[in-house]
This record gives sequence, C-alpha cells and structure tokens, in this order.
Amino acid sequence: MKNFYGYTIEELKKYLVEIGQKPYNADQLFKWVYEQKVFDFNKMTNISKVLKVELEANMSINDLEIHTVQESTDGTIKYLFKLYDGSLIETVVMSNDYGKSICITSQVGCNMGCSFCASGLLKKKRDLEIFELVSQITTAENHLQSKISNVVVMGIGEPFDNYDNVIDFIKVINYKHGLQIGARHISVSTSGIVPRIYDYANEEIKTNLAISLHAPNDRLRTKIMKINKSYPLNDVINASKDYFSKTKRRITFEYILLKGVNDEIKHANELSDLIRGINAYVNIIPYNPVSEFDYKKTDERRASIFYSQLIKRGINATLRREQGSDIDAACGQLRYKNEKS
Ligand code: SAH
Ligand code: SF4
Repeated sequence: MKNFYGYTIEELKKYLVEIGQKPYNADQLFKWVYEQKVFDFNKMTNISKVLKVELEANMSINDLEIHTVQESTDGTIKYLFKLYDGSLIETVVMSNDYGKSICITSQVGCNMGCSFCASGLLKKKRDLEIFELVSQITTAENHLQSKISNVVVMGIGEPFDNYDNVIDFIKVINYKHGLQIGARHISVSTSGIVPRIYDYANEEIKTNLAISLHAPNDRLRTKIMKINKSYPLNDVINASKDYFSKTKRRITFEYILLKGVNDEIKHANELSDLIRGINAYVNIIPYNPVSEFDYKKTDERRASIFYSQLIKRGINATLRREQGSDIDAACGQLRYKNEKS
C-alpha cells in the first residue's frame, strides 16, 4: 500500500490520471490532508465515491510510529521513530521565539564517516523514502498539535546522498496546499558533496544551504572528514560561490569547535581568508561530545575568542547556543545508544 505522504502534487496527478480520475482531485486531496488534517478518505466530501473506494484500497495516510519521546529541560523534544523495517530514526523539535523548528533525518545511518559524528558510527542501512521524510513533520505536528514553521535537514544522514527524495520532500512541504513551509524557512545541510551542490543551485525551490566545513585547510579537513579527499575545500568554495550566484541565498558554513584541533586563532584567521568575499556566514557550533571519540568540546571562553576573531576580520558569524544537549539532541546519538543495547 502506498503512503499519501510520499506523493508530490505532480506524482499524485499522474497517479490519478493512471486510474482514470481527474488531475484536479490531487489539489483537493492535498487540501484535505495537509490543510484540513482529515486523514480518512471517506470524510472528504468533494471526492467521488469511486475515487474514495480506489484510494481506500490502495493508499494509506499514516504517521510514523513513535517509539520514544524525550523532552529536554529547555523544551527541546526528541522523537525516536520506528520505521516499517524496524529501523529507528530520530527527529528533534526545537522551540524558538519565531516558532517551532524541526531537525529531519535523511538516511538510516550515514556513510560519510566524519570522525566526530555519532551518526556515522552506524553505516548507512538505507535512504529514507519521501513519505518517511514528510511524515517526520506530520507526526510531530499531530503529536504536538502545533504547526512547525522551520525545517532543517540536519539529522542523521547526508541529504545529498539521498538527493532525489530530499528534493521531492521539499516540493511536498513547500507546496501551497502541502505543509506550506516557505523556501526561506527550509535549510539543508551537506558535508560537501560538490556535484550535488551544483545541482541544488539549479532546483526550482531555492532553500537555504548549509555546508559543514569544520576546518580551514585541506590537511585538517581530510583528517576529520574523509569526504574532503573526494571534494577538497577549493571545490567546495567554488560550488558555494556558484550556489550564491544562482540563488542569491546566503550560504551558511557550519564549524564545530573541537578542542585543540580546529579552535585556535590561527584557524579563525585561515578560515576568514578562505571564505572572504563569499556572501556567507559562519555558524559556530559547540561540539556535543560522543563517548566513542576522543574529541572534546571547546570551552565557552575560547569559543567566544574564535567568534570575535572572525568578526574582527570582517566575517559574519554566529555562536550557536546549545539546545537539548541534556538529551543528546545534537546529532544521531540517542539512536546509536538504542541500537547498541
Ligand atoms: N550530513 C549533513 C547533515 C547532518 S549533520 C552534514 O554533515 O552537514 C548536521 C550538522 O551536525 C553537521 O554540521 C555536522 O557536522 C554536525 N555534527 C555532527 N556531529 C556533531 C556533534 N557531535 N556535535 C555537534 N555537531 C555535530
Ligand atoms: Fe554523516 Fe553529516 Fe555525521 Fe558526517 S556529520 S557522518 S555527513 S551525518
């Protein structure tokens, strides 16, 4: 049985035509499900009896199974969802003054193997399907009885290694009768799969793009992120420039501070030279320690020195506050703990 949440509007129209129905029914169905939150085809009053019977027999509108919900002292909520094949994935909802934002998982595990990241401890089992991406949001919205306004694809997995599904996911959530999340409220984070950055610049929906840099030179970046062997910094920087020139969207460079590894003044200087002239800003992220690795978190004083050095050198930067660190909400860690036990 197919899941409604796996259809873009175009795919749904195509399906309806295939079964001898009218394509305009697709918009009616989207409105019922995403706007009216009606999940029973029989209650959709403007849908013909024949179509209802067909949909009842062939399509489901199912949220994900909630395995665990954890709430942090700061209100951050972390869901562990159980997928149809028993895989567990996590999704985090954060409350901000501008609304709720959700951190979406794109794959079961990750093959990029960054040396500091808990998600990479479990090799990729599979890509998430479109309905599994969309229903992370619908499940959280239905559970919280509240609208989610911002979406970041920064959970477990490398979204550009599941490119086509992530693009369709964005189409569904951005659609005017879908979840209606504006392109400026959607961010996708990549570890730097360069050819996909070029592809992404040509997509119709222009979202925000974040690129995980984490080091200001190839020697260091290759040491901590093995993807740098395939796509070195210079290629990443050129792709970033292309993205900005085509989309006019300011790039975010993510930079985790790892104590004694990439957090010195000289690194801040090198970073500012590397990205000077690009319309971008650096999001400095406190490291959330993972017990399997030796990396340590840079202390706050040093983090603010790093931040100030970037500012001093004319680079836009923000020092991200930690959210939900008491429940390991940063990246991939709860699921890893569960799968181990
Ligand atoms: N695979 C994508 C998106 C998921 S990871 C990417 O790498 O960009 C989202 C962000 O969390 C990345 O910047 C990643 O480097 C960072 N991250 C991974 N492990 C972390 C940890 N333990 N503490 C803080 N940030 C972490
Ligand atoms: Fe994968 Fe991103 Fe973690 Fe690297 S940081 S292992 S790409 S999830």
